[in-house]
Amino acid sequence: MLPKIDKPVYSITLPLSKKELKYTPFTVKEQRNLLLSLETGDIQTMEKNIEQVLKNCTITEGIEISKLPLIDVEYYFLHLRARSVGEIVENQYVCNNEVDGKQCGNNIKVSFNILDIPVTINEDVTDTIKLTDNIIIKLKYPEYSVVKRMENSETVTDFAFNLIIESIDYIHDGEQYYYASETDPAELVEFVNSLNTEQFAKIENFFNNLPSLRKDLKVKCPKCGFEHEITIEGIESFFE
Ligand SMILES: [Zn+2]
Repeated sequence: MLPKIDKPVYSITLPLSKKELKYTPFTVKEQRNLLLSLETGDIQTMEKNIEQVLKNCTITEGIEISKLPLIDVEYYFLHLRARSVGEIVENQYVCNNEVDGKQCGNNIKVSFNILDIPVTINEDVTDTIKLTDNIIIKLKYPEYSVVKRMENSETVTDFAFNLIIESIDYIHDGEQYYYASETDPAELVEFVNSLNTEQFAKIENFFNNLPSLRKDLKVKCPKCGFEHEITIEGIESFFE
């Protein structure tokens, strides 16, 4: 039998759920699967693979990846990627600045450290919303599995509405707490449908301002000197 390779162990605190966990880097075999799924361009295959790799690499017991907020999963995955393949990612952009009526067209290389990508939380946005004098609704960040499942929604409106239904934590009427997990989904749908426009807008505001994993970079084109502002966002842009 060949000797086993010892893997290093890292710790991470997930930014939204505040869960602390230990993990090991992924192997070349797992990396190959991830790259293959990326090449297919099929988001669902990619997400399934990401979830599986995270499960394989998590040492801490009792962590359900699919139940974590989407941003926690993406943040965790970026860190795992950094520890497995390297912290620095290099992307290429074509300079679209016009010089003398012609596109510059220069290839600009942009490199950044994945571990420097912050989670931005909008502190002004509350998850507890007062609907009437005595009824409040408490929302939670959409879970990874919920967002994944809903990508099949027929329309954007369906997606938004279902996301709200699935992300209710509880409703409180001043006396009793009605937890969504213990409530018939049809009742939740009826409840949300009965809201007026103003109440619904308050709920939408929470979902329109979810935390994000992004970084703005300023990059100067070495050929024409134009300063580009590039936003790095979404895990696809961290793969190379
Ligand atoms: Zn240029």
